[in-house]
Amino acid sequence: MHITLNNLKLINNEIKEIVTKKQLKISPEIIAVSKTFALDKILPIIESGHLHFGENKVQEAETKWVNFKKQNTDIKLHMVGKLQSNKAKKAVEIFEYIHSLDNLKLAKKISYFEKELNKKTKLFIQVNLGNEQQKSGISLNELDSFYNHCSRDLSLSIIGLMCLPPTNTNSENYFKILKEASLKLNIQHLSMGMSSDYIQAAVHGSTFLRLGTAIFGERHIS
Ligand SMILES: *Cc1c(COP(=O)(O)O)cnc(C)c1O
Repeated sequence: MHITLNNLKLINNEIKEIVTKKQLKISPEIIAVSKTFALDKILPIIESGHLHFGENKVQEAETKWVNFKKQNTDIKLHMVGKLQSNKAKKAVEIFEYIHSLDNLKLAKKISYFEKELNKKTKLFIQVNLGNEQQKSGISLNELDSFYNHCSRDLSLSIIGLMCLPPTNTNSENYFKILKEASLKLNIQHLSMGMSSDYIQAAVHGSTFLRLGTAIFGERHIS
C-alpha cells in the first residue's frame, strides 16, 4: 500500500478509536493538507475515496486542482492559509471552504464576489486566541460583533471557527476556549487540530482536522 494511504488509514483508525473510547458526539472530518505536494503524490488517497483537501495558496490550488476537479466533482477544496483580499474572487471560484476569514475587508470582498458569481462558500472565522501580533485572526472580544455582521449584514455562511494555537504551547487550552466560543454563538463547526495535536483537538470537539505532515510526510520548501 502507498505510504500516504497507509498513513491516512492509521489516522482514521486512531480517530475511530478515540471517538469510541471518549464517546465523542462528532467524528471529525480529515482535511488532507496537500500544499507543496504534486497531484501524483495525492492520487493514492484520492483513489481510495478521500474527498477533503486543503491548500494554503490560491495560485498553487488553481494550477493543481481546477482542471482535475472538473473530472472529479466530489472533491472538496479547503483554503486554510492566509487569504489576501485581492485574491478573494479566485478563492470563491476555487474553494468550497475558506478557513481563514480574518478581517472585515476580506469578508466584504467574499460577500461581493459570492453575489457576482452566484456561489456560496462555507466559511470559518479565524480566531487569534493567543492575541499574537504576528498572527491574523479576530480577537475573542470582537468575535460576537464580527460574526453577527458577517452573517446578518453580509449574508455570509459562517459555519465554524478556526484556530492556529501559538507554537510550543499546549494546544488543549486553546481548543477548549474555541469550543466554548462556538457554543456561545451556536456555531456548528470547529477547524482545529494539526499533525501534532489532532487527537487532543478531536477530544475537544473538532469537526475538521487539518493534517499535512501526518499524511504526506515532511514538506520540502521549494
Ligand atoms: C500547513 C497547514 C496545516 C497542516 O500542518 P501539519 O502540521 O503539516 O499537519 C494546517 N493548517 C494550516 C493553516 C496550515 O497552513
